[in-house]
This record gives sequence, C-alpha cells and structure tokens, in this order.
Amino acid sequence: MSVTRAIHRLTSLLGEGLSLSKPVLEDHGRSETYFPLAAPDAVAFPKSTEEVSAIVKICAEEGCAVIGFGAGTSLEGQAQAPFGGICVDFSKMKAIRRLAQEDMVAVVEAGITREELNEELRATGLFFPVDPGANASLGGMASTRASGTTAVRYGTMRDNVIG
Ligand SMILES: Cc1cc2nc3c(=O)[nH]c(=O)nc-3n(C[C@H](O)[C@H](O)[C@H](O)COP(=O)(O)OP(=O)(O)OC[C@H]3O[C@@H](n4cnc5c(N)ncnc54)[C@H](O)[C@@H]3O)c2cc1C
Repeated sequence: MSVTRAIHRLTSLLGEGLSLSKPVLEDHGRSETYFPLAAPDAVAFPKSTEEVSAIVKICAEEGCAVIGFGAGTSLEGQAQAPFGGICVDFSKMKAIRRLAQEDMVAVVEAGITREELNEELRATGLFFPVDPGANASLGGMASTRASGTTAVRYGTMRDNVIG
C-alpha cells in the first residue's frame, strides 16, 4: 500500500491525464483558503465516470487519500491535501448529459460551473439559481452544500440537487 504504487498504476490508467508537475500540484494545494499550501502527490484529470471509479478503486487499494477538486473556490481548506494523496480535478467533466426543460431538470457532469450551466440554459428561459458569489463547479457546490444571496427564494444546493 503506497502513494508511489498508486501513482504508478494511475499513470498506466490515465497517461497524460495524471500530472506530477510542481506548478499543477501547488495550484491544487491552495484554493481560496487562507491556510498555507498543502499540495497533493499527483493530480488526476478524469474524463468519464468510469475513470473516476477506477481512480478511486486504485487509491482505496493503495490506501491513499483522494481529494476532489472543482474550481478551488472553497474557503475553509476543503480542497487541500494535508496528508498528500491524489487530487481528482473534475475540470474535464463538464458535459450536460440531459436537459428536460419541461421538468426543469438538468443532468450534468460534476465539473461544469454554475456560470457555464447558466450560459447553456439561457435560451431555455430557465436558470440555475444557487449563487455563492464564485464561479464554482456543481460538484464542489454540492459537496459544500452551497447557498448564497438567492437562497431565501430558491433554496440551497440541498433543495436543488435531486440526484
Ligand atoms: C467570494 C466567495 C464568496 C462565497 N460566498 C458563499 C456564500 O455566500 N455561501 C456559500 O454557501 N458559499 C460561499 N462560498 C463558498 C462556495 O460555496 C464554495 O467555494 C463552492 O461551493 C466550492 O465549489 P468548488 O467547485 O470551487 O469546489 P472546490 O473548492 O474545488 O472543492 C470544495 C470541496 O468539494 C469537494 N469536491 C469538489 N468537487 C467534487 C466532486 N466532483 N465530488 C466530490 N467532492 C468534490 C472538494 O474535495 C472539497 O472538499 C464563497 C466562495 C467565495 C470564493
């Protein structure tokens, strides 16, 4: 069980989708928090749910931490890696898989940001109302159960995420 073995296996799985570059590691060890840098050992950029699943399986088998990363806007150090491990950056998973306008339901990948989603929704007359003041990803916002200035009228992520 080791991070080194996990990195070796993840390199075989992801190829260039795994970064060990120092600037990339440092970018993923900060976020908007005031805590000092706590960088992961590697950053994975999965492109599908299957890849995310395989990454988590490898990390579980090798006993190393997995840290999700959306847009890195969280303020309390949630996206940092104080014990190292593998950061999973969702920025290559931004697809809108289904848009059921009549039901006001969108099925999206976790990496899409709220502004990107609203840009896509513009023509439908619908909008995604949760606005924490940062252009955060839907996955990160679900994780922090984000709210914001529109929460009194439209609710928080808890009220808007149905699956
Ligand atoms: C200027 C500013 C104002 C803000 N105002 C508010 C406010 O009024 N109300 C409020 O609620 N919040 C507020 N926030 C905080 C904001 O809600 C969070 O920054 C945001 O929800 C985090 O989204 P992110 O995509 O940046 O996630 P990140 O910061 O990247 O990650 C946040 C957490 O989510 C996890 N994560 C990320 N993606 C995934 C995923 N796909 N699956 C599982 N876990 C994942 C990370 O591991 C981490 O623990 C504010 C932030 C800023 C910068």
